Amino acid sequence: MTITAKDKPKISLLSDASKRLEKALKHVDISEDAIARLQHPKTSLSVSIPVRMDDGSLKVFSGYRVRYDDTRGAGKGGVRYHPGVSLDEVQSLAFWMTFKCALLDLPFGGAKGGITVNPKELSKAELERLSRGYIDAIADAIGIDVDILAPDVYTNAVIMGWMMDQYSTIQRILCRGVVTGKPLTLGGSEGRDTATAMGAFTVIQAMLSKFALQPRETTVAIQGFGNAGATLAGLLEDAGYKIVAVSDSKGGIYASQGLDIAGVTEHKNQSREMKAVYCQDTVCSIVEHQVISNEELLALDVDVLIPAALENQITQDNAQAVKAKYIFEVANGPITSDADQILAQQGTYVFPDILVNAGGVTVSYFEWVQNRSGWYWTLAEVNQRLQAKIELEAEQVWQISQDLKIDLRTAAYVQALKRLGEALDAKGNRNYFAHQESPSLNKPEGVK
Ligand code: NAD
Repeated sequence: MTITAKDKPKISLLSDASKRLEKALKHVDISEDAIARLQHPKTSLSVSIPVRMDDGSLKVFSGYRVRYDDTRGAGKGGVRYHPGVSLDEVQSLAFWMTFKCALLDLPFGGAKGGITVNPKELSKAELERLSRGYIDAIADAIGIDVDILAPDVYTNAVIMGWMMDQYSTIQRILCRGVVTGKPLTLGGSEGRDTATAMGAFTVIQAMLSKFALQPRETTVAIQGFGNAGATLAGLLEDAGYKIVAVSDSKGGIYASQGLDIAGVTEHKNQSREMKAVYCQDTVCSIVEHQVISNEELLALDVDVLIPAALENQITQDNAQAVKAKYIFEVANGPITSDADQILAQQGTYVFPDILVNAGGVTVSYFEWVQNRSGWYWTLAEVNQRLQAKIELEAEQVWQISQDLKIDLRTAAYVQALKRLGEALDAKGNRNYFAHQESPSLNKPEGVK
């Protein structure tokens, strides 16, 4: 098998994330100690995973698990299978997860894992051996109260089930809560598969209401028609928004009168190609539409643009062409920090990934809670709790941005940093240890 890194983004995610952190630091009163702690991952594990292939040969794969910070709770983060996975990428994603969990006020720190592999080149049996081998290699670094795994790019519920099973085999006790995003029958949660889209939908509804935008008058373009993008398109269409363009890796379609999302989805599932179709019962007919490139989709004259595919899609090279007034980042890191500045000058409102796509990790948290309590919730209960949580945190980000007159991304980082800073400082900081004589600091109430 050839391992290539051709799909790896050229812009370093970690350096881009650090730039945003620096910007937020200007608005937060956070101790030097906390900043120093946040500049280094707590644990970075690199492992090699020998796998017996179907033809009898042995291949050794590289895998990683990084727990960036666990001050607010056990590490939490997905496992990515991709040829471009590297330790640097996994560290960046773990850093991002630390801020996302803090922003949503979940009792988790941030973590991430990955294997450098093209899973499409493996048989199902090889994929199972690789997934179980990965758990064998990192078992000492994970656990229900240590670090909890979840799906990410090219990993799914079946793989999560294998991982939970392997960890339980090693521990000789059923440990459902060590992995989230599992199949329902193995302790998964209702609503986990639609959680990211549902969270994004909640943010969009709450935020657009501030601009008095009526769904029926609002045009939307969505880049990426996968789990998150397609589900979100359906939710928005049901709420009355006009979805005029969608795309996948092969390109997109545009129809000014609005697309029939159920029809597009059905046609794509059957034929693997994207066409604007209208379906009634089992009869689908192709309707008038324009074929557009992904670059053209990003530059459409729409009210709302939703990047829901990959990182680094809007950069300093194409940001000026973006005409949408509101961008909701469903993908992780679709806009570079250089592009952020251009969009801000154009008056574009960018609602950041760590808020917009946090529905997935929030329902992962619900899954962990359900596994631990053994009390399983209905879909309505999951969605109601998800919406309440996301609405609360979105409103706070909005308020911070209004109060401090800063962009929404910086406001989200400010909120996350405050929570992380408080937790890190609660263990004592320079002020605490340097003032030994201070009775109020050294003698908590009741201590003589
Ligand atoms: P997915 O693999 O189901 O779908 C990705 C979609 O993007 C596919 O339609 C694919 O064809 C399309 N795509 C790939 N390359 C493209 C390109 N160059 N231009 C346009 N479209 C392209 O993935 P997903 O789970 O929907 O995730 C999408 C994004 O959302 C990722 O950035 C992911 O990290 C982020 N995200 C997803 C979740 C989740 O729970 N699914 C949670 C948080 C963040």
